[in-house]
Amino acid sequence: MKRNNFPDNATCPLCGGTIENGTTTRTISIETAILIVKDVPAGICDLCGEEWFMLDVSKQLDELADEMRAKGSQLEILPYPANRMAEVA
Ligand SMILES: [Zn+2]
Repeated sequence: MKRNNFPDNATCPLCGGTIENGTTTRTISIETAILIVKDVPAGICDLCGEEWFMLDVSKQLDELADEMRAKGSQLEILPYPANRMAEVA
């Protein structure tokens, strides 16, 4: 199973605050191109506001960046592909 969300009571490595699950918009620079992914599952610290991503989410973002690089586009705005997360690893 892929995991998008942080366990309950996860603590922020920076400040020790509590990480709350939510979504964010992630902007990724790829050389001269820009990829914007909306509704990315993230853990957001309730104290310092730092955003954290589970490994599977980071991998998914890397895949999207690779696809964009392969296409050669300069700007893409995509929703986070939730359907892919239904795949069982
Ligand atoms: Zn924090």
